[in-house]
Amino acid sequence: MRPLSDVHPSPPPHPGFPTETTTTRAGTVGDDVLRVHELTDDADPRPRCGAGEGEPVDEWLRAVNCPDCAR
Ligand SMILES: [Zn+2]
Repeated sequence: MRPLSDVHPSPPPHPGFPTETTTTRAGTVGDDVLRVHELTDDADPRPRCGAGEGEPVDEWLRAVNCPDCAR
């Protein structure tokens, strides 16, 4: 009987699974749900570019696509 450690030591990593981890928070402001801003990491997150002053912020798990935030 073979010891258990002789079998596969660990499963292979998920192929195609993104290994890059990002802590960037993204979100939209107001009714503009197409432009995803990078949010400043605060208790009260706001778009980095300052868009949507006074508008409510919705945080998303989406990629930032706002060119002003990416600068
Ligand atoms: Zn922005």
